[in-house]
Amino acid sequence: MRFNNLNGKVRFFLLDLFGRSHIQNVLNNLRTEQYLPYEVLTQMSRSKLNYLFEIAKKSVPFYRKFKSYEELPALNKETVRKDLKNFISTSYPNSIFEKCTSGSTGKPLTYFVTSNTRSYLWAFIILSWEVAGYKIGDKVAFVAGSALLNFKSSFKHFIFYKLLNVDAYSAFSLSENDIEQYLNRLVKRKTKFIYGYASALDIMATHINNNSNFDTTYLKGIICTSEMLTETMRENIKRAFKVDVFNQYGCNEGGVSSFECEFHQLHIINTRCYYEIDGVGQLLATDLSNEGFILLKYETGDLVELSENKSCACKRKFPIIKNVIGRSRDIVTDINNKSLHASFFHYLLSNEKSIKQFQVLFNHEAISLYLNVDNGKKNIDYYEKYINELKKHLIFNKYNLYINSPFLNSTNAKHRHIINTDI
Ligand SMILES: [Zn+2]
Repeated sequence: MRFNNLNGKVRFFLLDLFGRSHIQNVLNNLRTEQYLPYEVLTQMSRSKLNYLFEIAKKSVPFYRKFKSYEELPALNKETVRKDLKNFISTSYPNSIFEKCTSGSTGKPLTYFVTSNTRSYLWAFIILSWEVAGYKIGDKVAFVAGSALLNFKSSFKHFIFYKLLNVDAYSAFSLSENDIEQYLNRLVKRKTKFIYGYASALDIMATHINNNSNFDTTYLKGIICTSEMLTETMRENIKRAFKVDVFNQYGCNEGGVSSFECEFHQLHIINTRCYYEIDGVGQLLATDLSNEGFILLKYETGDLVELSENKSCACKRKFPIIKNVIGRSRDIVTDINNKSLHASFFHYLLSNEKSIKQFQVLFNHEAISLYLNVDNGKKNIDYYEKYINELKKHLIFNKYNLYINSPFLNSTNAKHRHIINTDI
């Protein structure tokens, strides 16, 4: 089948036909909604929540006993996992589809989405690409693991990606040789946008910055997703690919979808998601697009800081997330139960340009700092200063430092900065 000459409208029509979705419709709505007044958007969000709560109270077993959203407890993964049926709406007339969280931070969670939820997810992704200049039909490269590349399932998926004009590059294979092949393929296919895991793109960028001259004639923008994008990583990626780099942050089971605008402010789509921040700074979210499997006030596990700013130079009025501090699981706890968040390590190591990536492994006894550094600077003594710094903040019986040893990989190719090996 040849898809190259299809125009945007036909592509969307076919995408929605094959995906049993209405992405085009949702995308059109989002394009308009993003410029509505802040108060109108907040009101829309609350009205959708009230509507969803009424459905939940009547048709979802877990919520029968509750009278208002306010009295609901925060919902954690364990409660959902215990009995999935408890959260399925008995009045939802259409099919629901099984999905699974990526499991990069603990045990994966099975949940269900509706066709509307899927439409919102893809419309959000495309909206975030549009900030970088994307037009439907442009060649996009996905550099990702299992979370984004779900090819196993069917011919339908294959067609879906073909229609979106997406090429897949595995974030599992990132040897120097693989990267060279990827770079050649990106140029040969005249790839305009790259969408992928921040850590994988950072590794590719380092390769380019050290070794090769990547031809950036066709490339227009890069959108990072699924992982923390530090400023050091963003600069590294920008320098290599010579295009602007945009971040994205989402939590699909909570309906959280936020994207960076031209001014690099992270706007959260509050017409898809109702949210609040709990006492410890965690984002609690409700997917307003999912009437089939209803999770209200869901604990995302992400520590998030909201911005006070109600306006942005881009004129979008979707609220702004000031800072995604990270996963609440990204925390190191020492033998005296003192905790430090991954951002401490980002901060500690950010001024050392020779450090390309890091990982901290710890348990009830020892802490190990793994550093990936420029080959020219392998001297372990030089980096001992970071262990000394660590000793001032965290108490362990043993401290280890490893230079350019392989990182512990999670099963989905996402890089984890902090790993508790006791769990
Ligand atoms: Zn903006």
